[in-house]
Amino acid sequence: MKNTQKNIAILGSTGSIGINSLEVISNFPDKYRIAYLSANKGIPKLVEQIRKFQPTGVAVMDQTSADVIYKIFGDTVKIFIGEEGLNTIASSPEVDIVINSLVGFVGLVPTIKAIESNKRIALANKETLVVAGNIITKMLAHSNTKIIPIDSEHSAIFQCLVGEDINNVSRLILTASGGPFWQMDKNKFASVTISQALEHPNWKMGSKITIDSATLMNKGLEIIEAHYLFNLPIEKIEVIIHPQSIIHSMVEFVDGSIKAQLGYPDMKIPIQYALSYPERFPLRSTRLNFNDLKQITFFEPDIQKFECLSLAYKALINGGTSPAIMNAANEIAVELFLTQKITFDKIPKIIQKAMESVKIVENPSLEEIIKADSETRNFVLSNINNLIR
Ligand code: MN
Repeated sequence: MKNTQKNIAILGSTGSIGINSLEVISNFPDKYRIAYLSANKGIPKLVEQIRKFQPTGVAVMDQTSADVIYKIFGDTVKIFIGEEGLNTIASSPEVDIVINSLVGFVGLVPTIKAIESNKRIALANKETLVVAGNIITKMLAHSNTKIIPIDSEHSAIFQCLVGEDINNVSRLILTASGGPFWQMDKNKFASVTISQALEHPNWKMGSKITIDSATLMNKGLEIIEAHYLFNLPIEKIEVIIHPQSIIHSMVEFVDGSIKAQLGYPDMKIPIQYALSYPERFPLRSTRLNFNDLKQITFFEPDIQKFECLSLAYKALINGGTSPAIMNAANEIAVELFLTQKITFDKIPKIIQKAMESVKIVENPSLEEIIKADSETRNFVLSNINNLIR
């Protein structure tokens, strides 16, 4: 019998997408094998995962973590270190599919390495397309591989587009839960606590993306992600608040027909689809019960209140390195909020000022994008007192 088992590398295996991915994969031992895992801070969790999945190797961020792994597993597990390590496992000849569930800018270069070595990429790292959408789309056009989105909205759109001609799409409608504050008065944003902001109504996720959901920057990033993933102009990409997170997104076609993808909010569904596409495999997930579903509601997002949404549209219109600048400023601002250095209301202020101050480079190369990212981080950190005044 032909061996059809696919070897998988998970970048960021101890985060919420990584853990869900391993759960999906462990249901299909004859179809998938874990070849590589990687972790940054979650080393104890990584040790557990190595015991259970016996990968060929792992990537960790520093020598200390590498020593911990070596002490336990010795030579039975290959150990790679740092961003080079992530690139090595993303392009390993042994690997068929790369699940990129890294958080933030650090996810970019491993995606590029995976495209260069023709891996299928199951992409949860939305920053890849936000900061380098032009480069990634060009690379994909000249390769024979694909990015299949894991982000639930983009998975929904991807599923709605199966069998369709993209030229027949009149608009994409990205749904947003609105996060915990969509109904809160804007003048209360200054006193929002970290634990309030980490309280997402529908999804259990990591802290960075949960804060992004509270500021709606997550939806801003997703607009840009959708623009590059589906090659549609921003005029055709809309956002609607849908607090129940049951409709994961919709596509309207030129004849006025709309397709929506629905399901119980469970990331295992888009993860599994990114692996199984174009097939579908059974999944024991909670099913939607329409009798329990009291209502599905929709509201227009308030872009005065959630400035991050308009900043994202602006970044896309500015083009060049503007989305990379926006993303870097956001990553720093979220970190500053999570470490209690700034209040919640300052997040969009910092991003806006960074976008106005850091020079935008048109048609950037990868090096110029990396430079824009570090330049912005330095700009925010060294001017923080002025930026929050
Ligand atoms: Mn999403």
